[in-house]
Amino acid sequence: MSASLGTYIHELEPSWTIDIYERLDKVAAESSNAWNNAGTGHSAFCELNYTTEKADGSIDISKAVAVNESFEISRQFWAHQIQQDVLKDPKSFINDVPHISFVWGDDNIAFLKKRHAALQHSTLFRGMEYSEDQATIKQWVPLVMEGRPANQKVAATRMPIGTDVNFGEITRQLMDSLTHHDNVKLNLQHEVRDIRRNDDQTWTVTVADLANNGAESAIKAKFVFIGAGGGALPLLQKTGIPEAEGYAGFPVGGQFLYTSNPEVVNRHLAKVYGKASVGSPPMSVPHLDTRIIEGKRALLFGPFATFSTKFLKNGSLMDMPGSISTDNIMPIAHAGLDNLSLSTYLISQLMLSQEERIEVLREYLPEAKSADWKLLDAGQRVQIIKKDAEHGGVLQFGTEVVASADGSIAALLGASPGASTAAPIMLTVLEKTFKDRIKTPDWQAKLKEIVPSYGQKLNNNIELTNSIRQMTSQYLQLNFVPVQPEQENPSTAAVN
Ligand SMILES: Cc1cc2nc3c(=O)[nH]c(=O)nc-3n(C[C@H](O)[C@H](O)[C@H](O)COP(=O)(O)OP(=O)(O)OC[C@H]3O[C@@H](n4cnc5c(N)ncnc54)[C@H](O)[C@@H]3O)c2cc1C
Repeated sequence: MSASLGTYIHELEPSWTIDIYERLDKVAAESSNAWNNAGTGHSAFCELNYTTEKADGSIDISKAVAVNESFEISRQFWAHQIQQDVLKDPKSFINDVPHISFVWGDDNIAFLKKRHAALQHSTLFRGMEYSEDQATIKQWVPLVMEGRPANQKVAATRMPIGTDVNFGEITRQLMDSLTHHDNVKLNLQHEVRDIRRNDDQTWTVTVADLANNGAESAIKAKFVFIGAGGGALPLLQKTGIPEAEGYAGFPVGGQFLYTSNPEVVNRHLAKVYGKASVGSPPMSVPHLDTRIIEGKRALLFGPFATFSTKFLKNGSLMDMPGSISTDNIMPIAHAGLDNLSLSTYLISQLMLSQEERIEVLREYLPEAKSADWKLLDAGQRVQIIKKDAEHGGVLQFGTEVVASADGSIAALLGASPGASTAAPIMLTVLEKTFKDRIKTPDWQAKLKEIVPSYGQKLNNNIELTNSIRQMTSQYLQLNFVPVQPEQENPSTAAVN
Protein backbone atom coordinates (compact mmCIF):
# COMPACT_ATOMS: atom_id res chain seq x y z
CA MET A 1 0.00 0.00 0.00
CA SER A 2 2.74 2.46 0.98
CA ALA A 3 4.82 1.56 -2.07
CA SER A 4 1.82 2.21 -4.33
CA LEU A 5 1.02 5.55 -2.66
CA GLY A 6 4.67 6.63 -2.79
CA THR A 7 4.74 5.80 -6.50
CA TYR A 8 1.61 7.86 -7.21
CA ILE A 9 2.87 10.82 -5.17
CA HIS A 10 6.29 10.79 -6.76
CA GLU A 11 4.72 10.83 -10.23
CA LEU A 12 2.29 13.59 -9.32
CA GLU A 13 4.81 15.76 -7.49
CA PRO A 14 8.37 14.64 -8.31
CA SER A 15 9.90 17.41 -6.19
CA TRP A 16 8.24 16.35 -2.92
CA THR A 17 10.41 14.70 -0.26
CA ILE A 18 9.16 11.28 0.83
CA ASP A 19 10.47 9.40 3.89
CA ILE A 20 9.40 5.78 4.34
CA TYR A 21 9.89 3.95 7.65
CA GLU A 22 9.84 0.15 7.85
CA ARG A 23 10.43 -1.67 11.14
CA LEU A 24 11.79 -4.86 9.52
CA ASP A 25 15.11 -5.20 7.72
CA LYS A 26 13.41 -5.49 4.32
CA VAL A 27 10.18 -4.45 2.65
CA ALA A 28 7.34 -6.85 1.88
CA ALA A 29 8.07 -9.27 4.72
CA GLU A 30 4.60 -8.95 6.26
CA SER A 31 1.18 -9.51 4.60
CA SER A 32 2.31 -8.48 1.12
CA ASN A 33 4.99 -11.19 0.99
CA ALA A 34 4.07 -13.82 -1.60
CA TRP A 35 4.01 -16.63 0.97
CA ASN A 36 1.93 -14.65 3.48
CA ASN A 37 -1.13 -14.28 1.23
CA ALA A 38 -2.88 -16.32 -1.46
CA GLY A 39 -1.74 -14.13 -4.36
CA THR A 40 -5.17 -14.04 -5.92
CA GLY A 41 -5.72 -11.06 -8.16
CA HIS A 42 -9.16 -10.53 -6.60
CA SER A 43 -11.50 -9.73 -9.48
CA ALA A 44 -14.64 -11.46 -8.13
CA PHE A 45 -14.48 -14.00 -10.96
CA CYS A 46 -14.31 -16.97 -8.60
CA GLU A 47 -14.90 -15.63 -5.07
CA LEU A 48 -18.50 -16.54 -4.30
CA ASN A 49 -18.69 -14.27 -1.24
CA TYR A 50 -18.80 -11.17 -3.48
CA THR A 51 -22.17 -12.21 -4.94
CA THR A 52 -24.94 -12.71 -2.40
CA GLU A 53 -28.36 -14.22 -2.84
CA LYS A 54 -31.12 -11.76 -1.95
CA ALA A 55 -34.31 -12.71 -0.08
CA ASP A 56 -36.21 -12.95 -3.39
CA GLY A 57 -33.65 -15.45 -4.70
CA SER A 58 -31.98 -13.05 -7.13
CA ILE A 59 -28.23 -12.48 -7.07
CA ASP A 60 -26.72 -9.15 -6.06
CA ILE A 61 -23.64 -8.59 -8.23
CA SER A 62 -22.89 -5.00 -7.14
CA LYS A 63 -19.98 -5.95 -4.84
CA ALA A 64 -18.50 -8.20 -7.55
CA VAL A 65 -18.68 -5.36 -10.06
CA ALA A 66 -16.97 -2.98 -7.61
CA VAL A 67 -14.18 -5.49 -6.84
CA ASN A 68 -13.62 -6.13 -10.53
CA GLU A 69 -13.55 -2.42 -11.41
CA SER A 70 -10.93 -2.00 -8.68
CA PHE A 71 -8.74 -4.75 -10.06
CA GLU A 72 -8.94 -3.21 -13.54
CA ILE A 73 -7.46 -0.05 -11.97
CA SER A 74 -4.63 -2.09 -10.41
CA ARG A 75 -3.89 -3.67 -13.79
CA GLN A 76 -3.70 -0.21 -15.39
CA PHE A 77 -1.45 1.09 -12.62
CA TRP A 78 0.93 -1.87 -13.05
CA ALA A 79 0.83 -1.62 -16.88
CA HIS A 80 1.76 2.05 -16.59
CA GLN A 81 4.66 1.22 -14.26
CA ILE A 82 5.92 -1.32 -16.81
CA GLN A 83 5.86 1.42 -19.46
CA GLN A 84 7.82 3.69 -17.09
CA ASP A 85 10.35 0.90 -16.45
CA VAL A 86 9.46 1.17 -12.74
CA LEU A 87 8.13 -2.41 -12.72
CA LYS A 88 10.24 -4.87 -14.67
CA ASP A 89 9.40 -8.21 -16.29
CA PRO A 90 5.61 -8.64 -15.74
CA LYS A 91 6.03 -12.41 -15.44
CA SER A 92 7.96 -11.77 -12.23
CA PHE A 93 4.76 -10.56 -10.53
CA ILE A 94 1.61 -11.41 -12.51
CA ASN A 95 0.64 -14.52 -14.45
CA ASP A 96 -2.41 -15.99 -16.14
CA VAL A 97 -4.12 -18.49 -13.86
CA PRO A 98 -7.78 -19.22 -14.72
CA HIS A 99 -10.24 -18.49 -11.91
CA ILE A 100 -12.71 -21.28 -11.20
CA SER A 101 -15.63 -21.56 -8.78
CA PHE A 102 -16.40 -25.17 -7.90
CA VAL A 103 -19.39 -26.45 -5.90
CA TRP A 104 -21.32 -29.60 -5.20
CA GLY A 105 -24.85 -30.24 -3.85
CA ASP A 106 -28.15 -29.07 -5.33
CA ASP A 107 -28.40 -25.76 -3.46
CA ASN A 108 -24.87 -24.68 -4.29
CA ILE A 109 -25.26 -25.70 -7.93
CA ALA A 110 -28.48 -23.71 -8.21
CA PHE A 111 -26.69 -20.72 -6.65
CA LEU A 112 -23.71 -20.97 -9.01
CA LYS A 113 -25.94 -21.24 -12.07
CA LYS A 114 -27.93 -18.16 -11.03
CA ARG A 115 -24.73 -16.30 -10.20
CA HIS A 116 -23.28 -17.08 -13.60
CA ALA A 117 -26.44 -15.93 -15.37
CA ALA A 118 -26.56 -12.70 -13.34
CA LEU A 119 -22.90 -11.94 -14.02
CA GLN A 120 -23.38 -12.32 -17.77
CA HIS A 121 -25.32 -9.04 -17.73
CA SER A 122 -22.07 -7.26 -16.84
CA THR A 123 -19.38 -6.75 -19.48
CA LEU A 124 -16.78 -7.41 -16.80
CA PHE A 125 -17.77 -11.05 -16.38
CA ARG A 126 -18.95 -11.99 -19.84
CA GLY A 127 -16.96 -14.85 -21.28
CA MET A 128 -17.20 -16.79 -18.02
CA GLU A 129 -18.00 -20.43 -18.80
CA TYR A 130 -20.42 -22.57 -16.78
CA SER A 131 -20.62 -26.36 -16.67
CA GLU A 132 -22.28 -29.16 -14.70
CA ASP A 133 -20.56 -31.75 -16.86
CA GLN A 134 -17.89 -33.75 -15.02
CA ALA A 135 -15.91 -34.35 -18.25
CA THR A 136 -15.76 -30.64 -19.07
CA ILE A 137 -14.73 -29.72 -15.54
CA LYS A 138 -12.11 -32.48 -15.68
CA GLN A 139 -10.56 -30.75 -18.68
CA TRP A 140 -10.36 -27.53 -16.66
CA VAL A 141 -9.07 -29.08 -13.40
CA PRO A 142 -8.20 -32.78 -13.80
CA LEU A 143 -7.00 -33.30 -10.22
CA VAL A 144 -10.19 -31.87 -8.77
CA MET A 145 -12.24 -34.48 -10.64
CA GLU A 146 -9.99 -37.56 -10.37
CA GLY A 147 -11.25 -39.95 -7.69
CA ARG A 148 -14.61 -38.18 -7.40
CA PRO A 149 -17.76 -40.38 -7.46
CA ALA A 150 -19.14 -40.44 -11.03
CA ASN A 151 -22.63 -39.69 -9.73
CA GLN A 152 -21.67 -36.65 -7.63
CA LYS A 153 -23.49 -33.57 -8.87
CA VAL A 154 -21.00 -30.76 -9.35
CA ALA A 155 -20.86 -27.41 -11.14
CA ALA A 156 -18.11 -24.96 -12.01
CA THR A 157 -17.52 -21.65 -13.69
CA ARG A 158 -14.26 -20.75 -15.38
CA MET A 159 -12.84 -17.37 -16.24
CA PRO A 160 -9.77 -17.58 -18.44
CA ILE A 161 -8.50 -14.10 -17.58
CA GLY A 162 -7.85 -14.71 -13.86
CA THR A 163 -4.42 -14.00 -12.41
CA ASP A 164 -1.95 -15.01 -9.74
CA VAL A 165 -0.04 -12.03 -8.37
CA ASN A 166 3.17 -11.82 -6.37
CA PHE A 167 2.42 -8.71 -4.32
CA GLY A 168 5.77 -8.93 -2.52
CA GLU A 169 7.62 -8.65 -5.83
CA ILE A 170 5.52 -5.63 -6.84
CA THR A 171 6.32 -3.98 -3.50
CA ARG A 172 10.06 -4.63 -3.85
CA GLN A 173 10.20 -3.34 -7.43
CA LEU A 174 8.15 -0.21 -6.65
CA MET A 175 10.30 0.56 -3.60
CA ASP A 176 13.50 -0.13 -5.49
CA SER A 177 12.53 2.31 -8.18
CA LEU A 178 11.29 4.95 -5.74
CA THR A 179 14.47 4.93 -3.70
CA HIS A 180 16.58 5.68 -6.76
CA HIS A 181 15.35 9.25 -6.46
CA ASP A 182 17.37 11.54 -4.19
CA ASN A 183 14.26 12.93 -2.47
CA VAL A 184 12.81 9.52 -1.52
CA LYS A 185 14.39 7.70 1.41
CA LEU A 186 13.56 4.24 2.71
CA ASN A 187 14.60 3.74 6.35
CA LEU A 188 14.69 0.04 7.21
CA GLN A 189 14.72 -1.18 10.81
CA HIS A 190 13.00 2.04 11.83
CA GLU A 191 9.84 1.65 13.88
CA VAL A 192 7.29 4.44 14.07
CA ARG A 193 6.41 4.82 17.75
CA ASP A 194 4.34 7.99 17.94
CA ILE A 195 2.54 10.49 15.73
CA ARG A 196 1.52 13.87 17.20
CA ARG A 197 -0.09 16.93 15.65
CA ASN A 198 1.88 20.20 15.89
CA ASP A 199 0.35 23.64 16.48
CA ASP A 200 0.96 24.56 12.82
CA GLN A 201 -1.12 21.50 11.75
CA THR A 202 1.95 19.54 10.63
CA TRP A 203 2.87 16.21 12.29
CA THR A 204 5.79 15.02 14.36
CA VAL A 205 6.56 11.36 13.80
CA THR A 206 8.75 9.68 16.41
CA VAL A 207 10.85 6.88 14.99
CA ALA A 208 13.10 4.36 16.76
CA ASP A 209 16.24 3.15 15.00
CA LEU A 210 16.10 -0.58 15.83
CA ALA A 211 19.63 -1.21 14.58
CA ASN A 212 20.92 1.45 16.96
CA ASN A 213 19.48 0.40 20.34
CA GLY A 214 16.15 1.98 19.49
CA ALA A 215 17.53 5.51 19.45
CA GLU A 216 14.58 7.80 18.82
CA SER A 217 14.38 10.74 16.46
CA ALA A 218 11.55 13.07 15.45
CA ILE A 219 10.55 13.94 11.90
CA LYS A 220 8.26 16.79 10.96
CA ALA A 221 5.86 16.12 8.08
CA LYS A 222 3.08 18.01 6.31
CA PHE A 223 1.37 14.77 5.31
CA VAL A 224 1.52 11.29 6.87
CA PHE A 225 0.22 8.02 5.49
CA ILE A 226 -0.02 5.13 7.97
CA GLY A 227 0.40 2.15 5.64
CA ALA A 228 1.52 -0.21 8.37
CA GLY A 229 -0.81 -3.12 7.54
CA GLY A 230 -1.89 -4.75 10.80
CA GLY A 231 0.23 -2.18 12.64
CA ALA A 232 -1.85 0.72 11.33
CA LEU A 233 -4.53 0.75 14.04
CA PRO A 234 -2.26 1.44 17.06
CA LEU A 235 -0.52 4.24 15.14
CA LEU A 236 -3.82 5.74 14.02
CA GLN A 237 -4.97 5.74 17.65
CA LYS A 238 -1.87 7.72 18.65
CA THR A 239 -2.75 10.57 16.26
CA GLY A 240 -5.73 11.52 18.43
CA ILE A 241 -7.83 12.51 15.41
CA PRO A 242 -11.55 12.25 16.15
CA GLU A 243 -12.07 10.19 12.97
CA ALA A 244 -10.07 7.36 14.61
CA GLU A 245 -12.37 7.02 17.60
CA GLY A 246 -14.30 3.80 18.06
CA TYR A 247 -12.10 1.68 15.77
CA ALA A 248 -10.65 -1.60 17.02
CA GLY A 249 -9.03 -4.58 15.34
CA PHE A 250 -9.59 -8.32 15.42
CA PRO A 251 -6.64 -10.34 14.09
CA VAL A 252 -7.20 -13.58 12.20
CA GLY A 253 -4.15 -15.41 10.90
CA GLY A 254 -4.02 -17.88 8.06
CA GLN A 255 -2.30 -21.16 7.33
CA PHE A 256 -2.11 -22.97 4.01
CA LEU A 257 -1.36 -26.53 3.02
CA TYR A 258 1.43 -26.35 0.46
CA THR A 259 2.98 -28.69 -2.08
CA SER A 260 5.70 -28.28 -4.65
CA ASN A 261 5.57 -31.91 -5.85
CA PRO A 262 5.86 -31.47 -9.64
CA GLU A 263 3.54 -34.44 -10.29
CA VAL A 264 0.76 -32.57 -8.51
CA VAL A 265 1.67 -29.00 -9.28
CA ASN A 266 2.13 -29.45 -13.03
CA ARG A 267 -1.31 -31.02 -13.41
CA HIS A 268 -3.23 -28.10 -11.95
CA LEU A 269 -3.34 -24.58 -13.35
CA ALA A 270 -6.20 -22.68 -11.70
CA LYS A 271 -7.42 -20.90 -8.62
CA VAL A 272 -10.39 -22.98 -7.50
CA TYR A 273 -12.64 -21.24 -4.99
CA GLY A 274 -15.41 -23.11 -3.20
CA LYS A 275 -18.28 -22.10 -0.99
CA ALA A 276 -17.65 -21.27 2.66
CA SER A 277 -19.55 -23.40 5.16
CA VAL A 278 -22.69 -21.77 6.54
CA GLY A 279 -21.85 -19.33 9.37
CA SER A 280 -18.13 -19.08 8.64
CA PRO A 281 -16.54 -15.70 7.79
CA PRO A 282 -15.77 -14.61 4.20
CA MET A 283 -12.01 -15.05 4.54
CA SER A 284 -12.55 -18.73 5.32
CA VAL A 285 -13.65 -19.62 1.76
CA PRO A 286 -11.58 -22.69 0.86
CA HIS A 287 -9.46 -22.39 -2.25
CA LEU A 288 -6.89 -24.40 -4.15
CA ASP A 289 -4.41 -22.04 -5.72
CA THR A 290 -1.76 -22.30 -8.32
CA ARG A 291 1.03 -19.96 -7.24
CA ILE A 292 3.84 -18.77 -9.44
CA ILE A 293 6.62 -17.43 -7.25
CA GLU A 294 10.09 -16.67 -8.57
CA GLY A 295 9.29 -18.61 -11.74
CA LYS A 296 8.35 -21.78 -9.84
CA ARG A 297 4.89 -23.26 -9.55
CA ALA A 298 3.40 -24.40 -6.25
CA LEU A 299 -0.06 -25.30 -4.96
CA LEU A 300 -1.65 -23.83 -1.84
CA PHE A 301 -4.86 -24.95 -0.19
CA GLY A 302 -6.58 -23.11 2.62
CA PRO A 303 -6.81 -20.86 4.42
CA PHE A 304 -7.10 -22.48 7.83
CA ALA A 305 -7.70 -19.78 10.40
CA THR A 306 -5.41 -19.19 13.37
CA PHE A 307 -5.81 -16.83 16.28
CA SER A 308 -3.21 -14.80 18.11
CA THR A 309 -3.40 -11.33 19.64
CA LYS A 310 -0.58 -10.17 17.32
CA PHE A 311 -1.54 -7.59 14.68
CA LEU A 312 1.52 -8.44 12.58
CA LYS A 313 3.15 -11.80 11.90
CA ASN A 314 6.33 -10.27 13.35
CA GLY A 315 4.34 -8.41 15.99
CA SER A 316 3.79 -8.61 19.75
CA LEU A 317 1.16 -10.53 21.73
CA MET A 318 0.37 -7.18 23.37
CA ASP A 319 -0.80 -5.68 20.04
CA MET A 320 -4.49 -6.40 20.52
CA PRO A 321 -4.72 -5.78 24.30
CA GLY A 322 -2.74 -2.55 23.84
CA SER A 323 -5.24 -1.26 21.28
CA ILE A 324 -8.25 -1.56 23.58
CA SER A 325 -9.37 1.75 25.08
CA THR A 326 -12.47 3.37 26.56
CA ASP A 327 -13.63 4.55 23.14
CA ASN A 328 -13.56 1.12 21.48
CA ILE A 329 -14.37 -1.29 24.31
CA MET A 330 -18.14 -1.10 23.68
CA PRO A 331 -17.88 -1.66 19.90
CA ILE A 332 -15.60 -4.65 20.65
CA ALA A 333 -18.09 -6.09 23.15
CA HIS A 334 -21.05 -5.66 20.78
CA ALA A 335 -19.19 -7.03 17.77
CA GLY A 336 -18.08 -9.99 19.91
CA LEU A 337 -21.63 -10.79 20.98
CA ASP A 338 -22.90 -10.51 17.39
CA ASN A 339 -20.14 -12.77 16.06
CA LEU A 340 -20.15 -15.73 18.42
CA SER A 341 -20.20 -17.98 15.33
CA LEU A 342 -16.76 -16.54 14.42
CA SER A 343 -15.37 -17.61 17.80
CA THR A 344 -16.85 -21.09 17.35
CA TYR A 345 -15.37 -21.24 13.86
CA LEU A 346 -11.93 -20.14 15.08
CA ILE A 347 -11.93 -22.67 17.91
CA SER A 348 -12.91 -25.47 15.51
CA GLN A 349 -10.15 -24.41 13.10
CA LEU A 350 -7.53 -24.30 15.86
CA MET A 351 -8.42 -27.83 16.90
CA LEU A 352 -7.89 -29.37 13.43
CA SER A 353 -5.16 -32.00 13.18
CA GLN A 354 -2.99 -32.25 10.06
CA GLU A 355 -4.94 -35.33 8.91
CA GLU A 356 -8.22 -33.43 9.38
CA ARG A 357 -6.86 -30.60 7.22
CA ILE A 358 -5.95 -33.15 4.55
CA GLU A 359 -9.53 -34.47 4.73
CA VAL A 360 -10.79 -30.92 3.99
CA LEU A 361 -8.32 -30.73 1.10
CA ARG A 362 -9.67 -34.02 -0.29
CA GLU A 363 -13.07 -32.38 -0.80
CA TYR A 364 -11.27 -30.45 -3.56
CA LEU A 365 -8.49 -32.90 -4.43
CA PRO A 366 -9.91 -36.38 -3.72
CA GLU A 367 -6.63 -38.21 -4.33
CA ALA A 368 -4.39 -35.86 -2.30
CA LYS A 369 -1.58 -37.70 -0.49
CA SER A 370 -0.69 -36.50 3.03
CA ALA A 371 3.03 -36.88 2.36
CA ASP A 372 2.91 -34.22 -0.38
CA TRP A 373 1.47 -31.46 1.79
CA LYS A 374 3.11 -29.29 4.45
CA LEU A 375 1.56 -26.61 6.63
CA LEU A 376 2.67 -23.03 6.02
CA ASP A 377 2.05 -20.02 8.29
CA ALA A 378 0.77 -17.07 6.25
CA GLY A 379 0.11 -13.50 7.41
CA GLN A 380 -2.20 -11.81 9.89
CA ARG A 381 -5.32 -9.98 8.75
CA VAL A 382 -6.65 -7.40 11.19
CA GLN A 383 -10.38 -7.14 10.61
CA ILE A 384 -11.99 -3.81 11.45
CA ILE A 385 -14.34 -3.39 14.40
CA LYS A 386 -16.08 -0.04 14.42
CA LYS A 387 -18.81 1.89 16.21
CA ASP A 388 -22.24 1.37 14.75
CA ALA A 389 -25.37 3.29 15.73
CA GLU A 390 -27.69 0.31 15.33
CA HIS A 391 -25.63 -2.50 16.89
CA GLY A 392 -23.14 -0.59 19.06
CA GLY A 393 -20.25 -2.17 17.18
CA VAL A 394 -19.72 -4.21 14.01
CA LEU A 395 -17.02 -6.48 12.68
CA GLN A 396 -16.42 -5.82 9.00
CA PHE A 397 -14.31 -7.65 6.47
CA GLY A 398 -13.39 -4.88 4.01
CA THR A 399 -10.74 -2.18 3.91
CA GLU A 400 -11.29 1.38 5.03
CA VAL A 401 -9.37 4.61 4.58
CA VAL A 402 -9.57 6.75 7.73
CA ALA A 403 -8.43 10.35 7.14
CA SER A 404 -8.44 13.55 9.17
CA ALA A 405 -10.86 16.25 8.04
CA ASP A 406 -8.00 18.48 6.88
CA GLY A 407 -6.47 15.63 4.86
CA SER A 408 -3.07 15.87 6.55
CA ILE A 409 -3.08 12.25 7.77
CA ALA A 410 -4.64 9.00 6.59
CA ALA A 411 -4.46 5.32 7.50
CA LEU A 412 -5.56 2.16 5.82
CA LEU A 413 -7.35 -0.38 8.00
CA GLY A 414 -8.52 -3.89 7.11
CA ALA A 415 -7.26 -6.36 4.55
CA SER A 416 -9.87 -7.45 2.06
CA PRO A 417 -9.89 -7.57 -0.97
CA GLY A 418 -6.43 -6.46 0.02
CA ALA A 419 -3.29 -6.10 -1.99
CA SER A 420 -5.16 -6.64 -5.28
CA THR A 421 -6.77 -3.28 -4.85
CA ALA A 422 -3.83 -1.26 -3.53
CA ALA A 423 -3.84 0.99 -6.62
CA PRO A 424 -7.53 2.03 -6.37
CA ILE A 425 -7.41 2.27 -2.57
CA MET A 426 -4.44 4.62 -2.79
CA LEU A 427 -6.44 6.72 -5.27
CA THR A 428 -9.07 6.98 -2.53
CA VAL A 429 -6.34 8.10 -0.12
CA LEU A 430 -5.31 10.83 -2.59
CA GLU A 431 -8.93 11.89 -3.07
CA LYS A 432 -9.54 12.12 0.68
CA THR A 433 -6.31 13.89 1.56
CA PHE A 434 -5.43 16.13 -1.40
CA LYS A 435 -9.03 17.22 -2.01
CA ASP A 436 -8.19 20.44 -3.86
CA ARG A 437 -5.01 19.43 -5.58
CA ILE A 438 -6.58 16.33 -7.10
CA LYS A 439 -9.01 18.55 -9.02
CA THR A 440 -6.23 20.52 -10.71
CA PRO A 441 -5.69 19.93 -14.45
CA ASP A 442 -2.11 18.77 -13.80
CA TRP A 443 -3.10 16.04 -11.35
CA GLN A 444 -6.13 15.02 -13.41
CA ALA A 445 -4.00 14.67 -16.55
CA LYS A 446 -1.30 12.70 -14.71
CA LEU A 447 -3.81 10.39 -13.07
CA LYS A 448 -5.36 9.64 -16.47
CA GLU A 449 -1.90 8.82 -17.76
CA ILE A 450 -1.38 6.37 -14.88
CA VAL A 451 -4.93 4.96 -14.93
CA PRO A 452 -6.42 5.70 -18.38
CA SER A 453 -9.97 4.84 -17.26
CA TYR A 454 -9.71 7.19 -14.23
CA GLY A 455 -13.13 8.73 -13.54
CA GLN A 456 -15.00 6.25 -15.77
CA LYS A 457 -16.64 2.87 -15.15
CA LEU A 458 -15.78 -0.08 -17.35
CA ASN A 459 -18.92 -1.98 -16.42
CA ASN A 460 -21.32 -2.19 -19.35
CA ASN A 461 -19.06 -0.15 -21.60
CA ILE A 462 -17.84 -2.86 -23.99
CA GLU A 463 -15.61 -0.56 -25.96
CA LEU A 464 -13.84 0.79 -22.87
CA THR A 465 -13.59 -2.65 -21.22
CA ASN A 466 -12.02 -4.13 -24.33
CA SER A 467 -9.61 -1.29 -24.99
CA ILE A 468 -8.41 -1.16 -21.36
CA ARG A 469 -8.10 -4.94 -21.04
CA GLN A 470 -6.29 -5.19 -24.37
CA MET A 471 -3.82 -2.50 -23.33
CA THR A 472 -3.14 -3.96 -19.86
CA SER A 473 -2.88 -7.50 -21.27
CA GLN A 474 -0.28 -6.31 -23.75
CA TYR A 475 1.96 -4.67 -21.14
CA LEU A 476 1.40 -7.31 -18.46
CA GLN A 477 1.71 -10.16 -21.00
CA LEU A 478 -1.65 -11.63 -20.01
CA ASN A 479 -4.50 -13.36 -21.85
CA PHE A 480 -6.87 -11.03 -23.64
CA VAL A 481 -10.36 -12.30 -24.39
CA PRO A 482 -12.51 -9.59 -25.99
CA VAL A 483 -15.94 -9.10 -24.41
CA GLN A 484 -18.85 -9.82 -26.75
CA PRO A 485 -22.32 -8.25 -26.71
CA GLU A 486 -24.76 -9.92 -24.33
CA GLN A 487 -26.52 -13.09 -25.54
CA GLU A 488 -30.28 -13.22 -25.27
CA ASN A 489 -30.45 -16.14 -22.87
CA PRO A 490 -27.00 -16.46 -21.35
CA SER A 491 -27.80 -18.95 -18.63
CA THR A 492 -29.07 -21.73 -20.89
CA ALA A 493 -26.66 -20.91 -23.71
CA ALA A 494 -23.68 -21.45 -21.44
CA VAL A 495 -24.72 -24.74 -19.80
CA ASN A 496 -22.92 -27.75 -21.21
C1 LIG B 1 -3.76 -15.37 4.73
C2 LIG B 1 -3.93 -14.18 3.86
C3 LIG B 1 -4.31 -14.33 2.54
C4 LIG B 1 -4.48 -13.20 1.73
N1 LIG B 1 -4.79 -13.39 0.42
C5 LIG B 1 -4.88 -12.32 -0.40
C6 LIG B 1 -5.09 -12.50 -1.79
O1 LIG B 1 -5.19 -13.64 -2.27
N2 LIG B 1 -5.19 -11.41 -2.56
C7 LIG B 1 -5.09 -10.15 -2.05
O2 LIG B 1 -5.22 -9.19 -2.81
N3 LIG B 1 -4.86 -9.93 -0.73
C8 LIG B 1 -4.74 -10.98 0.09
N4 LIG B 1 -4.50 -10.80 1.44
C9 LIG B 1 -4.45 -9.43 1.96
C10 LIG B 1 -3.15 -8.73 1.63
O3 LIG B 1 -2.06 -9.56 1.94
C11 LIG B 1 -3.04 -7.42 2.41
O4 LIG B 1 -4.22 -6.67 2.26
C12 LIG B 1 -1.91 -6.54 1.91
O5 LIG B 1 -0.74 -7.29 1.71
C13 LIG B 1 -1.68 -5.43 2.90
O6 LIG B 1 -0.65 -4.59 2.45
P1 LIG B 1 -0.12 -3.45 3.40
O7 LIG B 1 0.92 -2.70 2.67
O8 LIG B 1 -1.27 -2.69 3.96
O9 LIG B 1 0.48 -4.24 4.65
P2 LIG B 1 1.83 -5.10 4.81
O10 LIG B 1 2.24 -5.77 3.57
O11 LIG B 1 1.65 -5.93 6.03
O12 LIG B 1 2.90 -3.97 5.07
C14 LIG B 1 2.89 -3.18 6.24
C15 LIG B 1 4.32 -2.87 6.59
O13 LIG B 1 4.35 -1.94 7.68
C16 LIG B 1 5.38 -2.31 8.57
N5 LIG B 1 5.06 -1.75 9.88
C17 LIG B 1 4.05 -2.08 10.72
N6 LIG B 1 4.07 -1.32 11.81
C18 LIG B 1 5.13 -0.47 11.68
C19 LIG B 1 5.68 0.57 12.49
N7 LIG B 1 5.16 0.91 13.67
N8 LIG B 1 6.78 1.23 12.03
C20 LIG B 1 7.34 0.91 10.83
N9 LIG B 1 6.86 -0.06 10.04
C21 LIG B 1 5.76 -0.74 10.44
C22 LIG B 1 5.34 -3.84 8.55
O14 LIG B 1 6.56 -4.40 8.99
C23 LIG B 1 5.07 -4.12 7.06
O15 LIG B 1 6.25 -4.25 6.32
C24 LIG B 1 -4.29 -11.90 2.26
C25 LIG B 1 -3.87 -11.74 3.58
C26 LIG B 1 -3.68 -12.87 4.38
C27 LIG B 1 -3.18 -12.69 5.77
